[in-house]
Amino acid sequence: MWTYLNGEFISKEEVRISPFDRGFLFGDSVYEVIPSYNNKLFLFDEHLERLKNSLSITNIPIPDSLKDLHPLMMELLKKNQFSNQAIYIQITRGVDPVRSHVSASTTVPTLFMTSTELETNPYRENPDKEGLKVELEEDMRWKRCEVKATTLLPNIIPFHREDKSDIDEILFHDGQKINEGSKSNIFFVFDDLIVTPPKEQNILLGVTRNYFLKRLLEEGFRVLEKEVKIEDLNKADEIWVTSSTKEIQPVHQVDNMVLPEKELDEYYWHKALKVLEEDLKGNC
Ligand code: PMP
Repeated sequence: MWTYLNGEFISKEEVRISPFDRGFLFGDSVYEVIPSYNNKLFLFDEHLERLKNSLSITNIPIPDSLKDLHPLMMELLKKNQFSNQAIYIQITRGVDPVRSHVSASTTVPTLFMTSTELETNPYRENPDKEGLKVELEEDMRWKRCEVKATTLLPNIIPFHREDKSDIDEILFHDGQKINEGSKSNIFFVFDDLIVTPPKEQNILLGVTRNYFLKRLLEEGFRVLEKEVKIEDLNKADEIWVTSSTKEIQPVHQVDNMVLPEKELDEYYWHKALKVLEEDLKGNC
């Protein structure tokens, strides 16, 4: 496996960063995960735009190599060979000579990339597979979740409690208001209305969320960005999660509440997946 670090392609076994890197010491860094299908990056411009937004909000300088990001990613895909991959890119504020909250003005950002094989969405091959098991959790994250920061402790801790080994995803809520998953955005279906929490809530504006919002509207579905409360959950006909690596996956159960069953063709998540699959044919 090949990685890319500050201008060089280096094998996974040999790549090294300094423990004085601010990404390591402070979590002072942002990231993106970009999928590729058939050696083509999917929604690259949208991911790049969000990365620049994360850099701008955190005031991490834009690394010079960002202007060549597309060819660099294509080179990494080529070196790592799988036809479908997920590229991880992380940019930290860089390595300082001493640990200090305030970074030296001369510090240059660290840019690291790696890629792994993109697992096929299991609901493509087996749409009848039981949906995900998710659990509600009070949202303890910071208030700037639109920044894709690597500081992810609140997203990770719930999965490491002893009794949480069979949970697929955590659903964060602020009081009654449901925000998003710990690693995905959330959609609800009420009758024929598809609803996802609005950007004004404390969420990451998922590239996949935005893609489905736009494409489902174009395809004539009724879609709305609107607050959903915990008390609305028992009225939901479907719940799905979306992300760049999971695409779209149905939820079977939220805490002890099991979602109603329908025929496969009636599920909106399945119709949405078909839209994506058609679009990906164009991408290939
Ligand atoms: N919300 C959170 C908290 C996430 O970590 C992710 C996955 N990166 C998403 C939403 C989905 O974002 P995207 O569709 O851009 O992968």
